[in-house]
Amino acid sequence: LEPFIQTIRTQHENILRAAKVRQDFTANVSHELKTPLTAISGYSELMETGMVQGEEIKHYAKEIHHNSNRLLALINDIIHLSEMDRTEYEVPMQQVNLSELVQNNLESLKISGEQRNVSLRYVGEPASVYGNAGLLEELLWNLCDNAIRYNKANGVVKVQVEKAKEKVNLIVSDTGIGISTEHQERIFERFYRVDKSRSKETGGTGLGLAIVKHIVAQHDAELFLDSKPGEGTKITVSFPAHKG
Ligand code: ADP
Repeated sequence: LEPFIQTIRTQHENILRAAKVRQDFTANVSHELKTPLTAISGYSELMETGMVQGEEIKHYAKEIHHNSNRLLALINDIIHLSEMDRTEYEVPMQQVNLSELVQNNLESLKISGEQRNVSLRYVGEPASVYGNAGLLEELLWNLCDNAIRYNKANGVVKVQVEKAKEKVNLIVSDTGIGISTEHQERIFERFYRVDKSRSKETGGTGLGLAIVKHIVAQHDAELFLDSKPGEGTKITVSFPAHKG
């Protein structure tokens, strides 16, 4: 009977853990949505009651604009994550040319880098993976966006597609601020940020890497993180080759 009891116990623990994660997420979502909304409500009230005038109005309008964009970004990411959480949702998968997908996104990624004085380089060989092109594009965008936002002025982001034994690797490395060891394990958690103000200033939601982790799991891929504070970060997504 002992192994049976152990199975039940483990199942019970897993259910409790999942409930706790859900509860934490709901509490975090409420808090994250409340902050920009409180700002929007406060600033617009000041304008409405005539407490601010002339040039000041522009400043407050800008804050309202900024906070509504932040709210929109958050809601988009939350909707996306909850869609992916629905287990019954089957993602259509097919053979995707990964090197082509990266190259197709390179120009717009470069422009996004230029805005922060970060240059983007691509080194790749032709390789395909079994997956969903839309999700893979999102994965690439989230990783590159971080590599740009957490970089230094005149920094570099390198995107690589590499064929290894039984694997196809997508590697995004940057010359940015890096992540210290104590944070490395947690950055894939929803809403976990090392430096909350830097994340917010640069338009982060704290959900990008949680979405990445989800997409990686959907593709039976593996994630590797290699980072040194002050030197940079390298994230490898390792896909199984010849699958599907
Ligand atoms: P955010 O929207 O805050 O960027 P993410 O989920 O994408 O959220 O990332 C979580 C946290 O991990 C970030 O807030 C940042 O502290 C850290 N991080 C992610 N990518 C990098 C990187 N390339 N270099 C340094 N820190 C990073």
